Amino acid sequence: MLIDSHAHITDEQYGDGGAGIAADMKKDGLKALVCVGCDGKSSRDAVAAAEKFDGVYASVGVHPYYPEIVTDELLDEFKTLSRHDKVVAIGEIGLDYHHETYDRDAQIVALVKQYDLAVEVGLPIIFHSREATGDFIEFLRAREFPQSGVMHCYSGSWESAEICLKKGLYISFGGKLTYHNARVLADVASRVPLDRLLIETDAPYLSPAQKLGEINYPKNVALVRDKLAELRGLSAEEIERITAENAERLFFKMKKQ
Ligand SMILES: [Zn+2]
Repeated sequence: MLIDSHAHITDEQYGDGGAGIAADMKKDGLKALVCVGCDGKSSRDAVAAAEKFDGVYASVGVHPYYPEIVTDELLDEFKTLSRHDKVVAIGEIGLDYHHETYDRDAQIVALVKQYDLAVEVGLPIIFHSREATGDFIEFLRAREFPQSGVMHCYSGSWESAEICLKKGLYISFGGKLTYHNARVLADVASRVPLDRLLIETDAPYLSPAQKLGEINYPKNVALVRDKLAELRGLSAEEIERITAENAERLFFKMKKQ
């Protein structure tokens, strides 16, 4: 059975708080998924979905787009939410310099505060890093990750991946791996140690090549599994088993359910 390590099933594009996706999980071959928070509301919604639906787990955190909302009050709320049985990670947190108006200093402060929270509550971290490699690597190099973490929707170089791996992090691949021009990414995916690989959809975003232009769904993680199997010369079943075992090792609270 598949585990989608990163999805946003309470996104308003689905219009039902994730109920439809959750109802179809067994039929779609999904054992579990992590519903990832991006701000206060989506983090609360993720916890609510995890409470309601079997196989749905939550993470709480603020995306680097919104560093200004990372207040002491919100961090306190995340701390309380992190004690919930089905909150398995802090994230998604990180750095994203894609939009022109980004505030670099504010993003770094928000990242460090949430990293400190993750270390304090003893949970793994879901990282988002886009167009900020230099600063992100500097952040990684200066810190330890006692409960590990994952580079979500990885799209960097092998050199950066190696630094993440040395820090004990996992590397998660999403729909981008299925794109025909994703040669660098395919090379990285063929080199990451098998026990550090995760797969994800980032649904409703980043649909795989076969579903371009459509809203993405967690069931499409099967297409990422198939591409990874092809790159690694393993069967789809083996990749499915390995990535599910890895997800349960990283998100260790999943196993206690
Ligand atoms: Zn995401």
